[in-house]
Amino acid sequence: MKVFKFGGASVKDANAVKNVGEVIKLHQDDLVIVISAMGKTTNALESVVNSYLNKDGKVEENLQKVKAFHNVILNDLFEDKNHPIFNEVHNTFVEIEWEIEEEAVREYDYVYDQIVSVGEVLSTKIVSAYLNSVGINNKWQDVRNLIQSDNTHRNANVDWELTEQLIQKDIIPQFNTKDQTIFITQGFIASSSELFTTTLGREGSDFSAGILAFCLNAESVTIWKDVPGMLNADPKWFDDTIKLDNISYLEAVELAYYGASVIHPKTIKPLQNKNIPLNVKSFVSPTNTGTLINNETKQDAVVPSFIFKMNQVLISISAKDYSFVMEDSLSHIFGVFSEFGVKINLMQNSAISFSACVDFDEQKTMKLIDELKKNYKILYNDNLELVTIRHYDQSTIERVTANKEILVEQKSRNTARFIVK
Ligand code: ASP
Ligand code: MG
Repeated sequence: MKVFKFGGASVKDANAVKNVGEVIKLHQDDLVIVISAMGKTTNALESVVNSYLNKDGKVEENLQKVKAFHNVILNDLFEDKNHPIFNEVHNTFVEIEWEIEEEAVREYDYVYDQIVSVGEVLSTKIVSAYLNSVGINNKWQDVRNLIQSDNTHRNANVDWELTEQLIQKDIIPQFNTKDQTIFITQGFIASSSELFTTTLGREGSDFSAGILAFCLNAESVTIWKDVPGMLNADPKWFDDTIKLDNISYLEAVELAYYGASVIHPKTIKPLQNKNIPLNVKSFVSPTNTGTLINNETKQDAVVPSFIFKMNQVLISISAKDYSFVMEDSLSHIFGVFSEFGVKINLMQNSAISFSACVDFDEQKTMKLIDELKKNYKILYNDNLELVTIRHYDQSTIERVTANKEILVEQKSRNTARFIVK
């Protein structure tokens, strides 16, 4: 049995959903299909949450936009306006309406998960009903009955043991008896032990596919994308990108760590642990070979990869009295970053200073700097770019640093990184 994952772009309108059907028809395998919210629904639902909690008077209007978007897709997909899916979608929205009718009593992250998770519920209900209507028999599966997590809302931690037990007990037997050969289920969402909905972090649907594949002992995972596979750079920055045909799990983890956004970094570990191959393929040309990620390292260094992170801030931290930055102050500094939830993209230290490069974030960056200022002398430089080259050589370095001022440069055997302006 195989696991497929379709992201938001692959179900962004009725034609996209029809195309998902075409892709599935090309496969005779038993399938568990993980689907994200349609198009930019997750962002739209985040606006609903923010309006609701900030009481900016726009909550109805924002929710209306999400409804209208889904209604257009429904109307395009189903000729029969009495199809039960219209009612189901309506009822799903009623759940949000109930939620927002009353004052919020719980914290932001909890409310966020209850509302934003509806995006995945809607998309899977619509796709499942559509596929059944065109003869692709499938069962809609609430993933919250399978993937169990703790109650860290918006970034829940998976209870692997319990999840595996539930999947083995509920899903495997249905495949074995051939009662079901295709399941349609949600990415991104899970359930806490208190039976509330949790989410696994933005872009978490790839990770969901990894979790399910691990627990199902799947043959392979395929992530269907609007690009031909994993490319050596984001086509946003380079015209002449090259597809990586085969890279190892380790190389994929490295690329994801440095910021390649094609697959969610957490996806690889469960697959590597059970040696389950991961394919990244195009839903536009589904018969083309995409990128294969497995144990094979032979081709890892064949093509240099470029990863750009924009809008970076370089924060330089030194002691107010010119003393060395030693282990005790480093441990305090890391504590502050962790407390403010700020991820360090690159760091460097000298005798009297420690520098950290982070994504600029309107909410967090200045607050973090203010906190650090209580104990240290702080200098910072914003509007920077962080460029990482995997498998670099001199010509690739020149290509990305031409006409730029280099503020920090770090090289290891396989990786060169530059903070440039
Ligand atoms: N819908 C969620 C998001 O946009 C999860 C995902 O697409 O992977 O973050
Ligand atoms: Mg996505």
